[in-house]
Amino acid sequence: MIKGKGKSVFSSIAIGKIFVFEKADLSYSLEGECSENELEKLNAAIDKARADLSALYEKTLKELGQEQADIIDVQSMFLEDPDFTEGIEAEINSGLSAPAAVKKVGDEMAESFASLDDDYMKARALDVRDISDRLVRTLLGADKGNQIEEPSILVSDDLTPSETISLDKSKILAIVIKNGSSNSHTAILARAMGIPALVQADIDITCTLSGKMMIVDGFDSTYVIDPDESEIKKAEKKKEDEERNKRELEQYRGKSAVTKSGKKIRVFANIGSSDDALLAVKNDADGVGLMRSEFLYLGRDSFPTEDELFEQYRKAVEALEGRLCVIRTLDIGADKKVDYFNLEEEENPALGYRGIRICIRQKDIFRTQLRAIYRASAYGKVAIMFPMIISKEEVLEIKDFLTVVEKELEDDGIAFDKNIEKGIMIETPAAAVIADELAPLVDFFSVGTNDLSQYTLAIDRQNEKLDYFFNAHHEAILRLMENVAREAVKNNIWAGICGELGSDLTLTDRFIKMGYTELSVSPAKVLSVKKNVINSEV
Ligand code: PEP
Ligand code: MG
Repeated sequence: MIKGKGKSVFSSIAIGKIFVFEKADLSYSLEGECSENELEKLNAAIDKARADLSALYEKTLKELGQEQADIIDVQSMFLEDPDFTEGIEAEINSGLSAPAAVKKVGDEMAESFASLDDDYMKARALDVRDISDRLVRTLLGADKGNQIEEPSILVSDDLTPSETISLDKSKILAIVIKNGSSNSHTAILARAMGIPALVQADIDITCTLSGKMMIVDGFDSTYVIDPDESEIKKAEKKKEDEERNKRELEQYRGKSAVTKSGKKIRVFANIGSSDDALLAVKNDADGVGLMRSEFLYLGRDSFPTEDELFEQYRKAVEALEGRLCVIRTLDIGADKKVDYFNLEEEENPALGYRGIRICIRQKDIFRTQLRAIYRASAYGKVAIMFPMIISKEEVLEIKDFLTVVEKELEDDGIAFDKNIEKGIMIETPAAAVIADELAPLVDFFSVGTNDLSQYTLAIDRQNEKLDYFFNAHHEAILRLMENVAREAVKNNIWAGICGELGSDLTLTDRFIKMGYTELSVSPAKVLSVKKNVINSEV
């Protein structure tokens, strides 16, 4: 039996088998041993890639349509291209291992495509990289590692948001990671899933852990590997108590969150995908206060098209059956990295070219997303929200651009809600301080306390070493929030909170007193926030 501790990001308990999530490290063993049958290995990998791509083609065609399926087809064509295959064979014959040969030829071909003038040919660089990565992973056996076959507890050094997004969430009972911080997006995703999760766990991760039994206790931030009978009994008892509490919260389901003195608070949910909208409804949310739309851009190799985005938004909006869905525009950057955006490495990515800054400077990306959001507004109640705002000028520039996009949609005869609410996130100290100037320009404010805290306290939300210095209740943050709510009330717009602090039950009364009328929290926390509001004397 091995016991250890971590930092809990969601209070719940799970008992199950361990699944060790290994990062696909494509760099190792590329120089590795070169056996006599490298050519055979190569041919087997090509056959497997052909079969996998053909299955992927069918799935893509069914789920996303012909245009996306054609992308898969282009990749398959490389497998039949003698320049590619014979080039690899020649490298193997001259002494390279199969994965090293594939990587070398793939990189060379990608570079020569990238240097061409023609945009179509340039884009082929990504395809050839993708297919050579696929072959290298197969040759290194790195493509099998991360398929979760049965419901398990996921253990890993760390998970990026893209890795988290590509996992089959229905099979994850709990997450235990060695690094990570409690405000990272991976922790937020774990909370959204409502499963126990520990970050900064003191755990030695080896592949021998796979398949062993584990208890993860998010209530007291502990885990046990290979638990004995008495530990299992204790955990089962806690699980029963948890279930009983959940049942107790059920009495608040369907009730309107109104305080004893009659203040109505909308308790919304934060979601990262259209599927999560169902989770919001299942957990009795009054709507969605933050759809982190950038998750639709993660875990893929190219920009989603307007139609793809529209389908996802429409699905979310329809699932909400008339409840409001606040869609935040793309907030890529910092820890949410996407290769095909080709963003340069930055010294301080959290203070860098991210979020609304990308949208303002790359209007083509912005236009595609806005059109998709507007189109979805014809299917339910949608609001648009802009992240990382720091100035009036930005808001005015965005509003001008919205007018252009609206006009284009009208000219194209496309239906959309002409009264769509437009709001901004208040997640920089700059925006919080000038809330008086921003409020007259928008329909609502939503405070992103995760970033507002990081920028106010100068504490990188990704850096676990700084947790010691972090105080979520720092007066500086609360006073900024007070200013934001005051200016919202003065200007007759609504103000909400969509950062993690919104679900801090010790602050509910204070937020209501400040003037907030919407709290957007992880779906799993909706009922406990409702309970707090309903029992509030404020
Ligand atoms: C926030 O910063 O509080 C927020 C809600 O946005 P995100 O966590 O996605 O940065
Ligand atoms: Mg933020």
